[in-house]
Amino acid sequence: MSDIPLLEVRNLSKHYVQRGSLLGQRTDVFKAVDTVSFSLPRGKTLGLVGESGSGKTTIGKCALRLIEPTSGQILFDGQDITHISGGELRRRRSDMQMIYQSPAASLNGRMTIGEIIGEPLWLHERLRGQRRRERVMELLHIVGLKTEHYYRFPHEFSGGQQQRVGIARALAVKPKLLILDEPTSALDVSVQAQVLNLLHELQQQFQLSYLFISHDLSVVRYLCDQVALLYLGKVVELADVETIFTRPKHPYTQALISAIPEPDPDGGREQILLQGDLNLRTPKQGCPFAPRCHVAKLAHCETDVPPLVEVEARHQVSCHLHPSSAHSRN
Ligand code: SF4
Repeated sequence: MSDIPLLEVRNLSKHYVQRGSLLGQRTDVFKAVDTVSFSLPRGKTLGLVGESGSGKTTIGKCALRLIEPTSGQILFDGQDITHISGGELRRRRSDMQMIYQSPAASLNGRMTIGEIIGEPLWLHERLRGQRRRERVMELLHIVGLKTEHYYRFPHEFSGGQQQRVGIARALAVKPKLLILDEPTSALDVSVQAQVLNLLHELQQQFQLSYLFISHDLSVVRYLCDQVALLYLGKVVELADVETIFTRPKHPYTQALISAIPEPDPDGGREQILLQGDLNLRTPKQGCPFAPRCHVAKLAHCETDVPPLVEVEARHQVSCHLHPSSAHSRN
């Protein structure tokens, strides 16, 4: 297997200009994603974690080139795909598929399951007739659905089954990367586990890489190898999953982990309550997390943005409490 990461994002930014006055003269720049960098090795899962509005879905859509980044670089399989277009982009897109949060909304209710899964087989491989039908049957089997489901419509299925259809449709074009945007958050807890198990099995079977977008850290712990915590469009902590859960260093990560329900209520973990939400006014300068930070703040928390630095091997943190002189990346 190649050592080149399947997906690499370098200093990716997506900014939106907002008109601030009635006459449209004053403009503000909203930084949905701000200088984000990470790499995703083949066959592995990277979790992008953060509250709603932290920029995680925007990163996923930029990686797929569904929205254009303002700056930065996206490399897929070693190729810079930041500016490719037309047929070249379409060919690349078949290697990268997205699974959405709401399975019902992502399936065309007027098409049968056979037509939904068969559509990309026609578009990408010009597969038709019996060969397409056989391939759809095979995909139904792979995702745990039955042959008789071929002629049914999405509304006849449960949320978990609809998500399986979405996964089968994505697998139809034999992708290398799946971008999973909160794929289980609309499902019942018992069904969530089944879909997560299916994703885990498919990853082993087809050597898939996953970019797993979620706000649910317990789900992230089950599926991910690496985790990037996002706050207001920036990565604030990035490490392998065990490090994040056993030695979180950023106060935001610590607060999110402390909020995960424990099986034993007397387990002794103290919950850190985050003050306010992401809508708190973003400070004009200094650490973006400062208005909600629960730890003793340093003088320069209010004045300097903490750079993202490597505090130990493969563990990056953006907080003035954890300085590092050697590996600063901002
Ligand atoms: Fe809190 Fe300061 Fe660290 Fe920001 S830099 S997270 S305000 S301690």
